[in-house]
Amino acid sequence: MKIICIGRNYAEHAKEMNSPVPSEPIFFLKPDTAIIKNNLPFYYPDFSKEIHHEVELVLKINKPGKNIDVQFAHKYYDEIGIGIDFTARDIQLKCKEKGLPWEKAKAFDGSAPIGKFIEKKKIADLNNINFQLNINGKRVQKGNTKDLLFTFDALIAYVSKFFTLKKGDLIYTGTPEGVGPVQIGDKLDASMENETLLSFEIK
Ligand code: MG
Repeated sequence: MKIICIGRNYAEHAKEMNSPVPSEPIFFLKPDTAIIKNNLPFYYPDFSKEIHHEVELVLKINKPGKNIDVQFAHKYYDEIGIGIDFTARDIQLKCKEKGLPWEKAKAFDGSAPIGKFIEKKKIADLNNINFQLNINGKRVQKGNTKDLLFTFDALIAYVSKFFTLKKGDLIYTGTPEGVGPVQIGDKLDASMENETLLSFEIK
């Protein structure tokens, strides 16, 4: 399986990164070794001093597809979850300055914790999903899918032009504003519509 992550899909987050709002989706990949499941802890890596949280809604692809038309894209996922796109911000800034690829900053082991998934049919309005991240009980990020620059269906259509999507692939759909550092000992809780779906510690 592969993990596809969308960058700058909320305008306020692009702004806080001093980055332009994109005219088409930006994406990158993480390997399957980035996944952390079952609320297992994230171990702070020794190569970075600035690991940032990015809370994101995640689509789970349910069947193979290539060049998917946007009007059929909704048939390619039945479940939505929540995850963290951990980012070594110090390394990412260096990569950006030098025009180098981002994988070291984005795709390292454990950089994609993923929580429980909810059936799409149980969600009243896909264009109005509230989600948030709390650290040590304090809210640090909150988002709503009404603010997405590119909808879930638009992302699936766009990404599938380049990559064949396969059953089990995950699409991290971008983070809202409020990204920031995590520290060893922090407890992260990510929720969708007040249901906590992911809960783990930084060790
Ligand atoms: Mg992200």
